[in-house]
Amino acid sequence: IDGGEDKIMSFSKSKELFADAKEVIPGGVNSPVRAFSAVDAEPVFIEEAKGSKLYDADGNEYIDYVGSWGPMIVGHGHPQVVETVQQEAAKGTSFGTPTKLETEMAELVVDAVPSIEKVRMVNSGTEATMSALRLARGYTGKDKIIKLTGCYHGHGDSLLIDAGSGVTTLGIPGSPGVPESIAQETIAAPYNDLEAIEEIFVEYGDNIAAVILEPVTGNMGVIEPKEGYLEGLREITDEYESLLVFDEVMTGFRVAYGGVQERYGVTPDLTCLGKIIGGGLPVGAYGGKEEIMDHIAPDGPVYQAGTLSGNPLAMAAGIETLKLLQEPGVYEELEEKSAKLTAGFKDNLNDLDLPYCQSRVGAMFSLFFTDQKVVDYSTVQTCDTEAFSLYFRKMLEEGVYLGCSQFEAGFMSLAHTDKDIEKTIEANYNALKAVKE
Ligand code: PLP
Repeated sequence: IDGGEDKIMSFSKSKELFADAKEVIPGGVNSPVRAFSAVDAEPVFIEEAKGSKLYDADGNEYIDYVGSWGPMIVGHGHPQVVETVQQEAAKGTSFGTPTKLETEMAELVVDAVPSIEKVRMVNSGTEATMSALRLARGYTGKDKIIKLTGCYHGHGDSLLIDAGSGVTTLGIPGSPGVPESIAQETIAAPYNDLEAIEEIFVEYGDNIAAVILEPVTGNMGVIEPKEGYLEGLREITDEYESLLVFDEVMTGFRVAYGGVQERYGVTPDLTCLGKIIGGGLPVGAYGGKEEIMDHIAPDGPVYQAGTLSGNPLAMAAGIETLKLLQEPGVYEELEEKSAKLTAGFKDNLNDLDLPYCQSRVGAMFSLFFTDQKVVDYSTVQTCDTEAFSLYFRKMLEEGVYLGCSQFEAGFMSLAHTDKDIEKTIEANYNALKAVKE
């Protein structure tokens, strides 16, 4: 494959590494989407990353729009993040005691996110949503949860129902191993459809602990809430004394410093965070009104704990990342870069007379291989996933690393240069042309 200049792209080392991995790791990967099965390809094994670039085992270089699925908003291996992690590691990697860093992180989150007065750190986004739901149930004394079809909240039992991300990609309607008794407590509704939510509340309103959603979705591609949708959810949950939970694991500190709730001006009761706040180390968090958060142990009866929660290395990487994001003009820069990229894609679509649609909210974007306006899970299902699959492989060969499914979002970082963006637009033209042919 001609990778540009006089370089020939080979994937032979990655192929070998994948074969070795499959011997000892289920599917060769520690998280299903990484296997590239949705795009009819084999994964590339990354050895190093710097700024906007990934380098694989065969020495190929890619402009990266996955950013470890969201966290790497300041770019890979940012010198300030790396230095602070090294300094903390030299002092010890885990103590299982409170540390000042945890308070510092909590203060940054409380200052940033409108709904959060108190916050508890956990180790992943999955843990954050699981814990938030337990708290919502413990606080309200109600059992049922409404989740929206196509939204992904990690792999907790209650939430692996009509989920997006890998589950959508693989077409698994939930998962074996989730007891029916648990699944029955989750009611799925379409995204962007307030009437559907109203109907569910009319039927089960007395027993609904919470509505949880990705307020801007990323796990079925980037979909914006319709005007009034988030406000409507706020009203109806208030009316029925049920909690509104925003899963901002992906959108937090990405679509705005204070997340979707800052950008759209709707404040939930609880918020889940992850990804960016760990600066690339394992992290999650959930927070909200003090009155609700005080129900968590040891202050209250709702139990939740973690050996490595608030880990000093994760806190240090997260704090440094958030400080970098506080610099003036950062979100304007992300907006500009992302807009430049999608404008270039749009010109290519026009030039090639292709009817595909795009969406973007801040530094998250999607190119949907459909001519329909994507507003929910059923419209996203109209995408031509085979066309996407070919597009993905062509982009990889052009040296651009995208999320390996039609249903994943693309992520811009501060490290992406104008040259990266121009090169990506050119690659996009070539890949779309190949799809058209
Ligand atoms: N919630 C959202 C919105 C996510 O995008 C993800 C992961 O992609 C999760 C929760 C789960 O987070 P984790 O993979 O850290 O468990």
